Amino acid sequence: MFSFFRKKPAPAPATPPATLSTAPEALPKTPESLLAPTAPPPMAAEASAPAVDGAASLVEVPVAVTAPARSGWLGRLAQGLRKTGSGITQVFTGTRIDDALYEDLEAALLQADAGVPATQFLLDDLKRRVKAAKATDPAAVKGLLVDAIAALLAPLQRPLVIGSEAEEGRAPPTVIMVTGVNGAGKTTTIGKLTRHLAAADAKVLLAAADTFRAAAREQLAVWADRNRVEIVSQAGGDPAAVTFDAVSAGRARGCDVVIADTAGRLPTQLHLMEELKKIRRTIAKAHAGAPHEVLLVVDGNTGQNALSQVQAFDAALGLTGLVVTKLDGTAKGGVLAAIARWGATRAGGPVPVYFIGIGEKLEDLQTFDAREFAQALLS
Ligand code: GDP
Ligand code: GDP
Ligand code: MG
Repeated sequence: MFSFFRKKPAPAPATPPATLSTAPEALPKTPESLLAPTAPPPMAAEASAPAVDGAASLVEVPVAVTAPARSGWLGRLAQGLRKTGSGITQVFTGTRIDDALYEDLEAALLQADAGVPATQFLLDDLKRRVKAAKATDPAAVKGLLVDAIAALLAPLQRPLVIGSEAEEGRAPPTVIMVTGVNGAGKTTTIGKLTRHLAAADAKVLLAAADTFRAAAREQLAVWADRNRVEIVSQAGGDPAAVTFDAVSAGRARGCDVVIADTAGRLPTQLHLMEELKKIRRTIAKAHAGAPHEVLLVVDGNTGQNALSQVQAFDAALGLTGLVVTKLDGTAKGGVLAAIARWGATRAGGPVPVYFIGIGEKLEDLQTFDAREFAQALLS
């Protein structure tokens, strides 16, 4: 199930004027540029915030996609990963567990973009599991490989948590900065995410910090319209300035979440990476402790290069989460194994995969489930 956690504040008189508005119709429309000056929330309201938090109860908000939809989705995930999966499953069609089987498996995992460290790790782990289970049949080895992959990927499975449940005393809004190369699926992912958040009564504000291209602003505005959420954008100008305005507006209007879309860029475009760092710093100036999430959207078809992207954006920004899209294409899901193996050696722990995408429709963005993914890969 697609779900996220948030604290639902109890209705409190001390809350600033912009309370959690649940009726989408009631959301004010914002003009293209942010004209209204944004007053910071009154001190009284800030002082009363802990009390509001204390009265809050943890609610798991089940979002739009129900179990049946997810089971249909599973089939499509398996379909999407078939190209890779069939290469791996072929290995288990023989009758003997021997060196040749492990060599074929090694080749298949490398072919699937798992990379050398993860492939070696999986082979070693699998051999241990085969020994422990005293397996004699290649079909049983395949089941054990599902276990090994699921275990390797498990640390990547973590829900995106917004609000003070994520962090004691976090003042709203939760600010999410979204980054990635051109065409990775950033804007589409933001649109889908916004839809799910809005459906769960979270008040969302979008920041069109991709100021470089008019079409990019328009694309985000379409999603904002469709979801009836506010958007702050500006023709041309400095993306950091737009983000600053958006986060300030999000605070003043009592938003739960502010999501900043950024223009695509390659990690080798150093001046553009500096620009991202500046956006990040500016968000922190507008709202202490923010951004709470710095997401990288990665196209699943990128292959082994996806890992380099993750590493480079992480080095520049300190990533808190990943979204892997287009696993329905020619993607070879093995790159998730590579990301997991790298994550095991990363100082701050692995960067979780919050969502994976397998298509352009709303329900095609789902939370990442390690076992489900392992099963789909080998089905
Ligand atoms: P951005 O440049 O990173 O903002 O990427 P966009 O969100 O504009 O997406 C680029 C293209 O990829 C669009 O045509 C999207 O519809 C498409 N796209 C995004 N996610 C997926 C996905 O999971 N699967 C497929 N097949 N297409 C996707
Ligand atoms: P997408 O939404 O990921 O497809 O991003 P865009 O297509 O909007 O990206 C526009 C192009 O402009 C990309 O090649 C970026 O590298 C580049 N770009 C983005 N922001 C800036 C900027 O502020 N200055 C310059 N010079 N180039 C930028
Ligand atoms: Mg975009």
